[in-house]
Amino acid sequence: MPYLQPFDPWKSSLCTCPPKYSLNPYTGCGHHCLYCYATSFIKNFYSPRIKKDFLKIIEKEITKIPKESLISLSNSSDPYQPLEKKYQFTRKFLEMLKNTSHKILIITKSNLVLRDIEIFKKLKCAISITITSKKFCSLLEPGAPSYRERIDTLKILSQEKIPVSVRLDPIIPGINDMEIFEILDEISNFVKHITISTYKAKPDSFKRLINAFPQYEELWTKLYIKEGEKIGKAIYLNQQIRFALINKIYQKAQLYNISFATCREALKDFENPQKCDGSFLIPT
Ligand code: SF4
Repeated sequence: MPYLQPFDPWKSSLCTCPPKYSLNPYTGCGHHCLYCYATSFIKNFYSPRIKKDFLKIIEKEITKIPKESLISLSNSSDPYQPLEKKYQFTRKFLEMLKNTSHKILIITKSNLVLRDIEIFKKLKCAISITITSKKFCSLLEPGAPSYRERIDTLKILSQEKIPVSVRLDPIIPGINDMEIFEILDEISNFVKHITISTYKAKPDSFKRLINAFPQYEELWTKLYIKEGEKIGKAIYLNQQIRFALINKIYQKAQLYNISFATCREALKDFENPQKCDGSFLIPT
């Protein structure tokens, strides 16, 4: 299977992303986010490892895709997870792109991304930083940089004029559904676009969350198991709750004049097709 593949999120009709390629320089991820959906389909996900002959293979694959392709790094791992410090596969891949016309979208939670600012300035790229919670960050994403480090990363990227958006997701009732508004206040000066989505329960991530936050077991069992809605292979909050929650965040984003999109929420009112992943910020 090629390392560089057309992005195809389970052929889901809910996905409104523009056409793009997806690349994961590593298999698995060391950020250990409890809610991670990739653990349900990638074996030993929390034992991240390098990909065999990654640089040699990707150097060839990159010559085979059309000019000006959009490449998303990464959809099933973090390209700046701890392994990147040692192996630098992401950095070396980006260096390969310097003389191409491809567009790059980087999705990360890590301040390690700042190491490569000088490379970003030479590429057509945008960065998306995921920020979830100030209060529960270390429990929720035990291997990832802190809330403060992510906010600082966002500020530096913005000051350096690197196009940057924020993923405020997943929103998990009880954890960050209230806090998300404070976070939005804090980031509003540094971001032009946000993408939000609610937590979609899968058996393994649901169990991890309950183990870490037993105080919410009753609430989540009610909202997801008893009243939730099965869409595809995941259980969503029911439509009424999703709508009310997303509408409140949307209204606040409007106040700040921040462009807004949702990710696979199955709510037409809040879809922003082709803009949902923040790649529209990439300079042409
Ligand atoms: S950073 Fe992304 S891929 Fe890595 S564990 Fe967290 S949610 Fe999963």
